This record gives sequence, structure tokens and C-alpha cells, in this order.
Amino acid sequence: MIVSQQDFSALDAENLVRDRRAFFRTGATHSYRWRVAQLRALRAMLITHGHEFEHTLLADVGKGATEAQLTEISFTVGEIDHTLRHLRRWLRPRRVAAPVSLAPARARIIREPLGVALIIGPWNYPLQLLLVPLLGALAAGNTAVVKPSEMAPATSALLARLVPRFLDARAVSIVEGAVPETTALLAQRFDHIFYTGNAVVGRIVARAAAEYLTPTTLELGGKSPVFIDESANLRDVARRLIWGKMTNAGQTCVAPDYVLASPKTAALLLPELGAAITEMYGLDPAASPDYGRIVNRHHFDRLGALLSGQSPQIGGESSAESLYVAPTVINGADPESAVMAEEIFGPILPIVHVAGAEEAIEFINAREKPLALYLFSESARVRRHFLRRTSSGGVGVGIPIAHLTVPGLPFGGVGQSGHGAYHGEASITTFSHEKSVLIKGTRPDTLRLIYPPYTLERKRLIAAVMLRGRRGDTL
Ligand code: NAD
Repeated sequence: MIVSQQDFSALDAENLVRDRRAFFRTGATHSYRWRVAQLRALRAMLITHGHEFEHTLLADVGKGATEAQLTEISFTVGEIDHTLRHLRRWLRPRRVAAPVSLAPARARIIREPLGVALIIGPWNYPLQLLLVPLLGALAAGNTAVVKPSEMAPATSALLARLVPRFLDARAVSIVEGAVPETTALLAQRFDHIFYTGNAVVGRIVARAAAEYLTPTTLELGGKSPVFIDESANLRDVARRLIWGKMTNAGQTCVAPDYVLASPKTAALLLPELGAAITEMYGLDPAASPDYGRIVNRHHFDRLGALLSGQSPQIGGESSAESLYVAPTVINGADPESAVMAEEIFGPILPIVHVAGAEEAIEFINAREKPLALYLFSESARVRRHFLRRTSSGGVGVGIPIAHLTVPGLPFGGVGQSGHGAYHGEASITTFSHEKSVLIKGTRPDTLRLIYPPYTLERKRLIAAVMLRGRRGDTL
């Protein structure tokens, strides 16, 4: 079912959710075959219309075809394939041991679908960040209402056209639109809300969810730090850092936001960063087909404001006409400056000087918990120290961003960078209720022992059984 912007009212939102819920209640989405069919159809949509998605991603965020395949289309197909490979096992009831006091009995955990999920996506990876949660919701047996970002209109329109042709239209609706449409949807009762985007809207989503006590997954952002020490191979570090930072022109939630390094390490790193930029994007990155653009004028101006008063050692050029901001590095950035106050979400890399690992840990811990933390050090002691003493959604040792491509690793934030997680089996956990089931026959009625009246004999028996329970005896 497609809903276009012009005709979407509160009543439409209500009807839409009611219809998705009515279909959910038929039980059709519970079947393993239905789930697999939906995943295969989604895969077919991405393969058949891959080129069209490449075009929309170029139009929306200036993403080149290879990057679009790597970070959006093939990425999502990979996630579908992983899910198809493992889904049967993930859905199997899991047996757990029942305590001896209940013998004979069996206990198990059954993953059941929640109902109707609302999925709200942002513009920066407008395909991946909608479809990966959606495939999780469908694999877990839910129906879904999906709201693409209005800031990626070409991808949004293509999804609205294709999804109903490929997926079961009784189960999935795409609602195109902006704040009014999202507000109308958020006023409805859902069984799970999965939101990806900034924390300001994250709060709006959480407040709306509170009305019905709806569980949420909030995939937010923040400033993801990088620590580099002198033991690291700075040439390789520079390449990985520039790749991680400049992909999608820095508009990636897990992009390295800033670097913490000693003045000496920073001085050695700087020429390597310059060399890595030239190697990847040439002497004039504006002419590179592999270098992206800023999504719109608002974000272009925001980045301009972050740069005002700064004297970058690398880059700093920009063009409002083409929404181009050069790969930019600011060495010795002031921790109190604007560029260090908020998530940069653009191709600007400040390097803040610290004395060493200890000061870097204090710097990180004095701020909000980030979505990702990156570490470049050959010292096992330093690595252990960071893993133990800092908190972040995820960690990349020796490589930025790539941890989210490991399907076995749950992807999500902590604290202000969000809560809940998805990818691989974590998506099934997110979109399911883990139902605890205890099965005990009525014969023999072993429980008679604990029914009153509590005679001396029964008290002794209960004490003996409880003692075995404390020792952890199970069936
Ligand atoms: P955005 O502006 O596209 O907004 C996200 C969604 O919120 C859109 O669908 C939009 O329609 C909706 N929205 C906007 N204002 C609203 C309102 N007032 N009420 C209800 N809904 C509203 O995207 P964005 O927020 O600019 O995305 C960038 C942010 O997202 C960054 O902070 C980034 O770090 C974060 N992000 C996080 C992840 C992650 O996986 N954790 C991934 C990508 C982006």
C-alpha cells in the first residue's frame, strides 16, 4: 500500500495501522514460509532495480555507484542472505533447564512476533537504514509501516513505487512524507518503533511511544572518537581513517568524528592524512567521482559555521553551488570550539591533542557515550585499558565503521547514542517477544509437597528441596 504526502491525515494513519494489525492477527505472518518469501522478494527488488537505486542515491546524497552498492544495496542483500541462512535456527524454541523442584517439567523460550512495527529512517543511508530494520521486522513475523526520510526524496519515491510490487501489501506500507506525516503516525499505537536519526527527534519518538508504553529502538548518533598512539603504523592508519571519515562525505553515524593524539603523533599523522586524501580522491577531490556531496544547503551552512574561525591544515575549501566541502583536517583543535561541541556529520576531522591514553580516556568519559570508538595502537595493554574503561555502542580496533558489517555483532548505541540493537540475530531479538513457557504435566502431582498445611514433615522436605535448588540442581 502506498500513501502519498497530499492525502495523508490522522484518519489515514489510523486506518493504515488498523489494516496492518488486522492482517497480523490473521496469523499469516507467523509462518516461516511467508517470512522467507518476503525476504526473497525484498532481495529480488534490490537485484532487479539495483541500477535505479544507484541513481536515486546519487540524486539524493551524491553517492557514487560503487559506494551505493557497497554501503547500501549489496550491504542489504548480504544482510538478507545471512538472515535466510540462519532464520530457521534463530526461530527454534530454545530449551532451558527447569529446577529440580519442578520435576518433571520442561522450560523453553519461544520468539513470537510483536505485531505492527513503525520504522522511521534518515536520509544519509536512505535505503539501508530502512530496509535492514524492515527485513528484521518481517523475518521476525511482524507487519510494518515504513517512513523514509523526506530529505532523500528520490529513494523514498522509488521505495514507495517498488515495495508494494514486491512485498505483501497487506503487511507493509510505505508512508512518504515529513514532520506532519510522522507526527500522525506517532500518534498511533504500534507494537515497536524503530527510529534512526538525530537525538532531538529521538526524544519526540520516545515521548510518543511512552503514551502506549511501546518499546523503541533508537539508533542515534554522537561524536565517535579515535585514539591513535605512536605505536600505530600511521600510513595505514591515515588511509583507514580517511576512508572511514570521507565515505558519504562524512555523513555516516559511525564516522570517526575527531582524533585524540599526542602533538608528536598528530604532527607525524598530518602528512599521511594529506597523502591518503590525494591517493583516494586526487589533488582536486571536487572532481573525483568517488567523493560525495553535502545533503542540502542547511547542512552545508551548518558545516560552514563549524569551520568559521578555524585554520585547517588540510582542505577547508567549499562550494555552496555544488554543496561541496573538501576533506578537511584541523590539527590542534580547541576542545571548546564549535567543531567539538556537536556531531560533525561532514568531512571535517579535528585532531585534539592529549598527553596519552590516560588523558584520552578521561576526555571520552567526560562526554556522552559515543556510538562508536576507534583505537589505533599496537599495545595490548592500551587496547585492554580502553575496552575496560570506556563505554560506547561499538568499538573498532584498527578499523573504523567495519564492525557494523559483521552480521553476528549487534549494532546499536548506549546512553545518548541510542538504545537497542539490530543486524543478524539481534534484529530477530529486537522485533520479537521472548516468551517464557513452562510445561508441566498434572500427573504426578509432585507439587503436593508444597501445598499447605505445612506439617513438620513437609517443612523438612521443602527445606531439603530448597537446598538442592540453591546448589543449582536442575533437570
Ligand atoms: P532526518 O532529518 O532524515 O530525520 C530522521 C527521520 O525523522 C526522518 O524520517 C524525518 O522525517 C523524521 N523527523 C524529522 N523531524 C521530525 C519531527 N519533528 N517529528 C517526527 N519525525 C521527524 O535525519 P537526521 O536526523 O538528520 O539523521 C542524521 C542523524 O542520524 C545523525 O545524528 C546520525 O548520527 C544519526 N544516524 C544514526 C544512525 C545509527 O544507525 N545509529 C544511522 C544514521 C544516522
